[in-house]
Amino acid sequence: MHSRRKFIRLSALGAAFTGSILKACTTPEKSENPKKSVKPVVVSTWNHGQAANAAAWEILSHGGSALDAAEAGVRVTEADPEVRTVGYGGYPDRDGFVTLDACIMNEKGDCGSVAFLQDIKHPVSVARKVMEETPHVMLVGKGALDFALAQGFKQENLLTPESEKDWLEWKAKNTETRPEINIENHDTIGLLTLDQKGNLSGACTTSGASYKYHGRVGDSPIIGAGLYVDNEVGGATATGWGEAVIRAVGCFLVVEFMRQGHDPEEACRLAVERVVSKNPDWKEIQVGFLALNKQGEVGSYCINKGFNYAVQTPEISNELFDAKSKL
Ligand code: ASP
Repeated sequence: MHSRRKFIRLSALGAAFTGSILKACTTPEKSENPKKSVKPVVVSTWNHGQAANAAAWEILSHGGSALDAAEAGVRVTEADPEVRTVGYGGYPDRDGFVTLDACIMNEKGDCGSVAFLQDIKHPVSVARKVMEETPHVMLVGKGALDFALAQGFKQENLLTPESEKDWLEWKAKNTETRPEINIENHDTIGLLTLDQKGNLSGACTTSGASYKYHGRVGDSPIIGAGLYVDNEVGGATATGWGEAVIRAVGCFLVVEFMRQGHDPEEACRLAVERVVSKNPDWKEIQVGFLALNKQGEVGSYCINKGFNYAVQTPEISNELFDAKSKL
């Protein structure tokens, strides 16, 4: 069973509560970032990254492409109803609709993205079709759904009884004060791959902030914010309060810091500092970055303790690591 992690936006909650929530979110297993590694490599966000990594590894270890591995990896998370923040079984928005955001990027810099997509279990695969079958990068809402159906994807209800029950309970308690109380759970899967040929790719997919406004799109499907890959340098993915990541164009920034010569952890740390400088409420939010460079080095950094990630290489057997944090 996947443990669900909660990033809590604490607009109306006190600092004491903040501390206990953040502690409750921490399940440390390792504290050192794996600095060095050998190809191939797959890294991904959170505990659910381990199952995603296993699927990606199946492809990478048999000489498959970074792109195929990235897509296959996150599809595992999208299909798992126990992961309540991605794909099937994800928490709905405040009106009860499960709306999904996803993107994918390959070693050529090609990218595809879908946002505010409903009723399709694998938004990452629709994003890949956008990349490969259209002249565009991003399709949203009904247009994305129409495109998916035309591509042969099946329309299905993604709201599981469990998520519906939680939503109804949330709604019963939050009728008047929803915008003020605004407790959000976050848990995107972002996954980065380096294949045996040395090519990099990445994918990112989420149901976004739970009980968000209908129509809200976060950082995850936005190239440069929730995901960025430059095959000469490295890739990065983000999780956490998407609005803050968008303001800093977070993942593009991480990759640019790596281009300047910083190792992945330092690049993530510098990007977190930028997020902090652009968001006065930074102590009340979580943002985590995860990066993989062309040499197979991995690094991560977040604002608040509690963000972890999974790494698989020929030398590291799909282990979880805790990201270093500013607080
Ligand atoms: N970044 C995602 C969003 O804001 C949420 C998450 O990471 O869980 O939509």
